[in-house]
Amino acid sequence: MNMSSPTIGFVSLGCPKNLVDSERILTELRTQGYQVVPSYDNADLVIVNTCGFIDSAVQESLEAIGEALHENGKVIVTGCLGAKQDQIRKVHPKVLEISGPHSYEAVLTHVNKYAPKPAYNPFTSLVPEQGVKLTPKHYAYLKISEGCNHRCTFCIIPSLRGDMSSRPIGNVLDEAKRLADSGVKELLVIAQDTSAYGVDINNRTNFWNGMPLKTNIQTLCEQLASLGIWIRLHYMYPYPSVDDLIPLMTDGKILPYLDVPLQHASPSVLKSMKRPGTIDKTLERIHKWRDICPDITLRSTFIVGYPGETEKDFEILLDFLMQAQLDRVGCFPYSPVEGAAANELANQIPDAVKQQRFDRFMQLQQTISTQKLQAKIGQTLDVIIDEVDEEGAIGRSMADAPEIDGVVYLNDEKNVNVGDIVPVNIEHSDEYDLWGTVQQ
Ligand code: SF4
Repeated sequence: MNMSSPTIGFVSLGCPKNLVDSERILTELRTQGYQVVPSYDNADLVIVNTCGFIDSAVQESLEAIGEALHENGKVIVTGCLGAKQDQIRKVHPKVLEISGPHSYEAVLTHVNKYAPKPAYNPFTSLVPEQGVKLTPKHYAYLKISEGCNHRCTFCIIPSLRGDMSSRPIGNVLDEAKRLADSGVKELLVIAQDTSAYGVDINNRTNFWNGMPLKTNIQTLCEQLASLGIWIRLHYMYPYPSVDDLIPLMTDGKILPYLDVPLQHASPSVLKSMKRPGTIDKTLERIHKWRDICPDITLRSTFIVGYPGETEKDFEILLDFLMQAQLDRVGCFPYSPVEGAAANELANQIPDAVKQQRFDRFMQLQQTISTQKLQAKIGQTLDVIIDEVDEEGAIGRSMADAPEIDGVVYLNDEKNVNVGDIVPVNIEHSDEYDLWGTVQQ
């Protein structure tokens, strides 16, 4: 890199969707000839890409801005919390500029203003063939739409990111192909509401490789399957149309894995949350999916202690967990988010009750998870390797998404490389993880 390139410090907070925004900003910075540096000290400018989803994320974002101001002084802020300019300015009046989520052009304009773009240089101004990736080389997030058309009462994403806006299918497939060609072995398909992909643009037909394709999740998955890499679906609402994706899993075209955020099971809590769909239908659907694809891994997240949640509502949730036997489950005690409609609801639950319900929930799910993992002992599973060090290797089976699910430990294994997919004989399990050895 040319030594006269302006240097930019960068911090990315929050969810995978924000990480994808960061990758795009970094790609554009690199395209313009900027140098992204690991420390703030000598940077010409620092960008903080913030999260504003829950209060603890807001706090973390404000602290990250404070740290950058302290260590460098020249800071621009973007991302979800950027939609609440006043809140940032109140704590950090010295921030130079603020923009909201996915405001790539505004970020670039702000950067150009405070750290002028380097003059054209044939070496620094080359458009990178492959965008900047913040995930390891062997997996990548593929964001297929922005924003959300739902209005869940506990969430402020629609006010931060706007209504749903789907990317054209040809554009998504171009990116997926480029990632696969560059060595990515696993694509994690994400959006706020992945199953609704294309609905906002009436499933418009778009071209890819000369083929007319409808913009919808079914067509996208069928085409992604042709890349021959692992395709994992996240944030899938259990709409009836999802049933048609399950045969692709049975046929091994996409991973038999569905991340379905359900949030609760009691009809009255779901109604108060303004969540789409009914839980009876969801349970029916789960059984149907398992009939078509017995190996499917189902993941979900739930909120306990939501305002107005009675002991009866909570027991309905525990009963649902027993019946659904989900493989992977995340749970959060409800925490208010500034600006969310749920803050105005009556009957806020005391923290001690929230914590007690959280503990009861996790205890039950731990038992289910332990039994499910025990049943894998003796099986041979394909495992993608994430890390190799002097103690051995760590990987994930098809049932495990990075960061949020369990792992497979391969103690003392040194003959594998990051990104390899190897058959592993499973020998041991605990509540969340597996242990095994590579099949010879
Ligand atoms: S579906 Fe609900 S929780 Fe998810 S982003 Fe949209 S409004 Fe928020």
